[in-house]
Amino acid sequence: MAPEERSLQSEAESLCATALWCYARGWVPATSGNFSARAGERILITPSGLDKGTLQPADLLEVDDEGSVVAGSGRPSAEIALHLLLYRARPQADAILHVHSVWNTLISRYYAAQGHVPLEGYEILKGLSGVTTHAYLERVPVLENTQDYAILSAQLADALAQNPAAHGVLLSRHGLYTWGQSVAEARRHLEALEFLFEVEMRRLFSQEANMPDFLP
Ligand SMILES: [Zn+2]
Repeated sequence: MAPEERSLQSEAESLCATALWCYARGWVPATSGNFSARAGERILITPSGLDKGTLQPADLLEVDDEGSVVAGSGRPSAEIALHLLLYRARPQADAILHVHSVWNTLISRYYAAQGHVPLEGYEILKGLSGVTTHAYLERVPVLENTQDYAILSAQLADALAQNPAAHGVLLSRHGLYTWGQSVAEARRHLEALEFLFEVEMRRLFSQEANMPDFLP
């Protein structure tokens, strides 16, 4: 379905189903995480502080491209600035998913000093759009976390400009942002990246534990 044919209602249902799916995996604990979908000039986004395990389409806020609420009650997540920036920097993106999983929290900390997480040689990289072979290096930028959203926005804008092929961005000890041309595509990117984060961290743990026969 072309993006312009997707209605706000169907995107709302898709977003809520995805939020429940993330909650069931433990990726949005304690009301964390936020999700949005864009249809034309309107954006649907999760309100601040809502339990993602009970999210319903009626809970979503409708905002314009400046972030002003045009429908719904409550206030948008504090991280709405990052969603708006991402939509501007990635015009093809019509959905953004942000989760706080155990594995993305660990791997973003591990690679914070390096500034990006390298993911290379895995078959599931083909779950990322445009990637057609396992022989591919995905670099996921890692930004330093801060509660100052002006600083975070500047860091994110820089990372997106420097990494045009990236499918996601990590905030150190915080979480992952990923996006797609639809909620379904963003969800596939999320599932592929979280799978890869877990594989990489388990590989690093095995090295730390001196299990040389386990993995090279
Ligand atoms: Zn967050």
